[in-house]
Amino acid sequence: MSAQYLFAPQEVNSVGIKGETKRFPVRRIYCVGRNYAEHTREMGHDPDRELPFFFNKNPDNLILNNGDFPYPSATKDVHHEIEMVIAIGTGGVNIPVEKALDHVYGYALGLDMTRRDLQGEAKKTGRPWEIGKAFEHSAPMGEIVPASQIGHLSKGEIWLKVNGAVRQKSDLSQLIWNVPEIIAHLSAIFELKAGDLIMTGTPAGVAAVKPGDVMEGYCEGLGTLTAKVV
Ligand code: MN
Repeated sequence: MSAQYLFAPQEVNSVGIKGETKRFPVRRIYCVGRNYAEHTREMGHDPDRELPFFFNKNPDNLILNNGDFPYPSATKDVHHEIEMVIAIGTGGVNIPVEKALDHVYGYALGLDMTRRDLQGEAKKTGRPWEIGKAFEHSAPMGEIVPASQIGHLSKGEIWLKVNGAVRQKSDLSQLIWNVPEIIAHLSAIFELKAGDLIMTGTPAGVAAVKPGDVMEGYCEGLGTLTAKVV
């Protein structure tokens, strides 16, 4: 007999897949902090290979299909962070760097929207980052492109424009920790499972948005992602 619930459970959060009718069910969303040297410096830190660190967003924070980004509550300083995203197809623990790409289903383009003022206060007081990072609608996400279609991503332009003006621009080759290294580190801390998404960090140029702004992101191989701030 299947379980009886007190109320209807939330639907499974999922992301569309390019060229597929099936959807990618999302289990967890991990994010890598400070993974481009220039961005690390702009946030006031030394990029010289400090170990990668991670935080999470919630699967129900996703915005799909180039949907609008509602300006969030409790902040006066919301920043865009354009990021390449890894979609895990096969889980594991202690995955070695040499085997890491076998665990990747595909890649997507995402925005790690950040209440920078609240994140800054959390940093200052030694409190957790959720208040700055894991709020409603904080994760606009494009469709997943399978690695079987584009191979694995180790280089390629990534940028974000706001109202047509370039704000962030770099290349995936500038990642401090590349895709296999991220998977190796993360899987030594948590058990990765199929359905996990990993946002790989943002290039320099993060800045505030305001209602009416249109964010347009791009990554070679992944196409564009658009979100209007409303
Ligand atoms: Mn980020």
